[in-house]
Parts: sequence; C-alpha cells; structure tokens
Amino acid sequence: MIRVKCPICAKSFEIAQLADLPSFPFCTERCKLLDLGRWIDGAYAIPDKTQAETAGTDDLEDEDDE
Ligand SMILES: [Zn+2]
Repeated sequence: MIRVKCPICAKSFEIAQLADLPSFPFCTERCKLLDLGRWIDGAYAIPDKTQAETAGTDDLEDEDDE
C-alpha cells in the first residue's frame, strides 16, 4: 500500500499502486484541477501597471517659425 496525502485537501488515503490513482498526488481529478487553477491564478497575478509611462513618447509640436 502507498500512503498518499493530497496537497490540496490534505486528505490522507492509501492506494495499492500508483496506477490506481490517475490524479496522483491528488485524491481526485477535482483536487488536481484546483491545484492547476491555483497555479494559473498565480501565473496571471501580474502587478498592476496603472502608471502610464509617457517616456519615449516624443511630443513633437509643430513649431512654425515663419
Ligand atoms: Zn484532495
């Protein structure tokens, strides 16, 4: 028997072999998806860039000196 502890719901359970648990190391596919979702959430957690940087925007005003 293999003792497994799901990293998502912390549920401990035993399986005869790893092949019995397609969602290893998670107890169910649900927990596997939860972990995946959490991972993606973190990957998309990009700090807000609300500061509109105007650097590089050359404000060329027409200077008609005539
Ligand atoms: Zn679980």
